[in-house]
Amino acid sequence: MEESTKLKSLRGSHASDTVVAIGSGEGRVLVGGGHFALMAGPCSVESEEQVLRIAKAVKAAGADMLRGGAFKPRTSPYDFQGLGIEGLKMLVKAREATGLPIVSELMGDKHLDFFLEHVDLIQVGSRNMQNYDLLKALSRVRKPVLLKRGFSSTVKEWLLSAEYLLSGGNEQVILCERGIRSFDPSTRSVMDLSVVPLVKELSHLPVIVDPSHGTGRSSLVPSMSLAAVAAGADGLIIEVHDDPEHALSDGFQSITPECLAGVNERIRKFRTLF
Ligand code: PEP
Ligand code: MN
Repeated sequence: MEESTKLKSLRGSHASDTVVAIGSGEGRVLVGGGHFALMAGPCSVESEEQVLRIAKAVKAAGADMLRGGAFKPRTSPYDFQGLGIEGLKMLVKAREATGLPIVSELMGDKHLDFFLEHVDLIQVGSRNMQNYDLLKALSRVRKPVLLKRGFSSTVKEWLLSAEYLLSGGNEQVILCERGIRSFDPSTRSVMDLSVVPLVKELSHLPVIVDPSHGTGRSSLVPSMSLAAVAAGADGLIIEVHDDPEHALSDGFQSITPECLAGVNERIRKFRTLF
């Protein structure tokens, strides 16, 4: 990037790796600078019982944080759109029951205040990576943001979106590779793992990987989770469901809690080699 040293997201402006602190107290999670986090949970919050059950299961499987979408950016307007604020309240109850900090997607600034009060890590989804008004609103707050890569965005565009957050004073930003579009429908996306070491070379911000959206197939998630760790990812965000066939969204790419336990065991062992 020619703008190089002037950009706050690039290494030239920041000597050490950024460490993002999520949540508070005992359940506080750190990401970056050698700290790794496993985030897991359903694509969508479907009911209080569902999210509580899955939250307990992912915690037992070794997850550090709970994910769950309440505002869902669905390609078709006829697909399940999420439970909205009611879904977020269920997620909050699951945090109370498990102590796991929560990450959820915000699609516009209408519900920003609720997110600021109740959500530990605010996700900006792939489709909103270049929603500059949303990025500007999030740049003014003091709450960690998970910025997913747009599925047709270049690394430069992705880092410039992060720059919107940093330029307004929000330095708690985590980048997330979630796969990009290709000509080949065999996998939902091409999981672009080379961007992990590339972005870590260019930027001081932590980078995590989403192998669920990255592959679109639950059978590929365990091996691509290990591959992401090998590439140097600072964390993983994985979709988990205890009844994937009946999930209201993304069941085909959701692994079970039992499978997550195996992934967790292998990634923790694997990380001791680095
Ligand atoms: C999600 O995390 O469920 C999601 C919609 O992700 P993305 O924005 O990467 O498609
Ligand atoms: Mn999903």
